[in-house]
Amino acid sequence: MTGAEIKEMDLAYNLHSWAKQGNLDPLVITKADGIYLWDADGKQYMDMSSELVNSNVGHGNQDIIQAIKEQADKFCFLSPAFAVEPRAKLAKMVIDRMPDNMGKVFFTNGGADANENAVKIARLYTRRYKIMSRYRSYHGSSFGAGNVSGEPRRYAVEPGIPGFIKFFDPYLYREAVSFDSEEEATKFYMTKLREQVIYENPDTIAAIILETITGSNGIIIPPKGYLQGVRKICDEFGIMMICDEVMAGWCRTGKMFAFEHFNVKPDIVSFAKGITCGYIQLGGVAVSKKISAFFDDHVLSCGLTYSGHPLACAAGIACLNYYDKTHILDHVNEMGKILGDIEEGMKAKHACIGDVRYIGLWSALELVKDKTTKEPMVPFGRDPEGIMPKIIKTLISKGFYTYSHENMIIVAPPLIITEEQLRKAMTILDEVLTEVDKMI
Ligand code: PLP
Repeated sequence: MTGAEIKEMDLAYNLHSWAKQGNLDPLVITKADGIYLWDADGKQYMDMSSELVNSNVGHGNQDIIQAIKEQADKFCFLSPAFAVEPRAKLAKMVIDRMPDNMGKVFFTNGGADANENAVKIARLYTRRYKIMSRYRSYHGSSFGAGNVSGEPRRYAVEPGIPGFIKFFDPYLYREAVSFDSEEEATKFYMTKLREQVIYENPDTIAAIILETITGSNGIIIPPKGYLQGVRKICDEFGIMMICDEVMAGWCRTGKMFAFEHFNVKPDIVSFAKGITCGYIQLGGVAVSKKISAFFDDHVLSCGLTYSGHPLACAAGIACLNYYDKTHILDHVNEMGKILGDIEEGMKAKHACIGDVRYIGLWSALELVKDKTTKEPMVPFGRDPEGIMPKIIKTLISKGFYTYSHENMIIVAPPLIITEEQLRKAMTILDEVLTEVDKMI
């Protein structure tokens, strides 16, 4: 098929995510390799968002492709009720990479159902029903995960599930109060959270779920002591602490899991994305030894036809082995330092950049109309003039592929990116933002 034919058929029959369908103009991609994508006309793009921050090892990874092929030759699918080698091996590999309090894994198809099952497990284990999560969070778009999410993608599933409660994020850049130190900020947020937990009746709260580091809502990194503070509140009231590592996990931040930066051990961890990098979709929920022991004599009321799909597990094993074999964490930390330095330089230079936040190879540039007032480039939840899509379109036309969320541009390249590629891509971003500076 020609590019034009693909686009025409795609638009005639596919419903696209999160968009009005009438005016779409999707890129037709016909080839992908490493950090690069090519469209039907042969134009090359750098994939500077790792697709949806999941393509950590880039495209065309032969270790993963071979593992899938070998597994496909043995068997493609067997019910989750059977014990099969790829599922057994991958579950062990996941637990081996988790803190020592973690016991077992329940595999899912992706991030949303990982969070839905994490919530169900917390509710079954605690026999409580309330779930607390934050406003600037995204935990998936299916009905339950959509209710856990706090940001505007939640609105489509409202009115919400009773007992799903939201609290404020430690979003220091836009906090109404200013703090002298991160510790002081943490004290403020913990006092408020503890107060809210008490008002809600702690005996009814099953879990507090948080993206360890907020991802699509702008790489909001918790202040010092914040996650330990949440851990303490959870311990005090017997509440499960669920860390959503769907985007943050699997090396993205320079550690295997983001919670390792903060020295906390969650009770439940949800994951997806980087465990297979999308070669085959897979997610999962890891639970503590205590929780897994509870289910020795209580029914685990969770199930999915494709839980631990053998092809996906084979991809996961190859992917985790690839991270180890290539010492990818060292590379992420090295490249992450360069990315952070470049973004700090850009923040100092550009009038349109209010804040940059980065950790590992994961970052957001927060665009503003005015640095002093911090007025965001587009109002929260709305972009009536389509300013952000225009900026993204310009970037893409220059070969820098990424996406935006609210007033943030996400920069999260595949973890295999080289220094030369990274510097080249950031030069494009720098040029485009120079044009944006002139616009405001
Ligand atoms: N949790 C987080 C933190 C995410 O970023 C996402 C997706 O971006 C999800 C959950 C949902 O994952 P999925 O799209 O695989 O359902």
